[in-house]
Amino acid sequence: MDLNLKNKVFIITGGTKGIGGAITRAIAVEGGIPVFVGRNKETGEALLKELDSQGNEALYLQGDLNIKGTSEKIARLTLEKFNRIDGLINNAGRNDGVGLENGNTDDFAKSVFNNLNHYYEMAHYCLDALKKTKGSIVNISSKTALTGQGGTSGYAAAKGAQLALTREWAVELLKYHIRVNAIVPSEVMTPLYESWLSTFENPEEKIKSIVEKIPFENRMTSKEEIANTAVFLLSDKSSHTTGQQLFIDGGYVHLDRAIS
Ligand code: NAP
Repeated sequence: MDLNLKNKVFIITGGTKGIGGAITRAIAVEGGIPVFVGRNKETGEALLKELDSQGNEALYLQGDLNIKGTSEKIARLTLEKFNRIDGLINNAGRNDGVGLENGNTDDFAKSVFNNLNHYYEMAHYCLDALKKTKGSIVNISSKTALTGQGGTSGYAAAKGAQLALTREWAVELLKYHIRVNAIVPSEVMTPLYESWLSTFENPEEKIKSIVEKIPFENRMTSKEEIANTAVFLLSDKSSHTTGQQLFIDGGYVHLDRAIS
């Protein structure tokens, strides 16, 4: 299936590694031009080199999305170089464990800000360009928005808000033919997940107890499986899909886990 992404420009926040890295690569494989954002220059430049060696056009923009001005700069630099934006993937985020008992009101406000504010900012600064291309927005949320996790109020609140904004923007942008959808991952092995796992006394036992509860094939979702859904949502093959929450999780959130 030709997704018709050739020479189209897509911004991926947190596109240097993990889920975002897989989305960056998937866009490049389809002939699209990924503009990917991350803080660590070494990681970003290594991915740029990889894509370049495969003959893919791409742009790495180094920056911290939690610093004022970064989102506006990303949109501006992308337009200066390519003169178009066809899609935005809001993905950067971190489960920072600010809970009711293990945090305070300042930590909570900061956690919500860090996980949520740049989703709005990026959409805001890309909007005029997306109107011209009738582009698509994909927000990467988390199962914690629906299931909770315990001990992570700020992250869960931000992830829930991302689902609310997906519907809100889908409605607001109907008139511009801009589609807005969310992907809800549950258990995906990434650098972020690995560092969370390492906080347990016995990570191997912990991961075994988790995958046992994933209904479909008792395994983690791969980051490529998330990326495949993302490129579909960015493409015109999903041209009548908007305001949706797609759970790419082997049935983790919705199926009866007592059976696995
Ligand atoms: P990851 O492995 O830590 O990758 C995160 C990416 O975001 C990296 O490229 C990181 O690069 C970048 N990033 C983080 N904070 C940033 C900031 N302030 N400014 C610029 N770039 C930033 O995480 P992941 O597991 O792939 O998670 C990606 C998304 O999926 C997150 O929104 C997460 O909540 C969601 N999610 C993941 C899972 C899972 O099982 N992994 C489950 C549910 C939801 P630098 O560190 O270099 O900045």
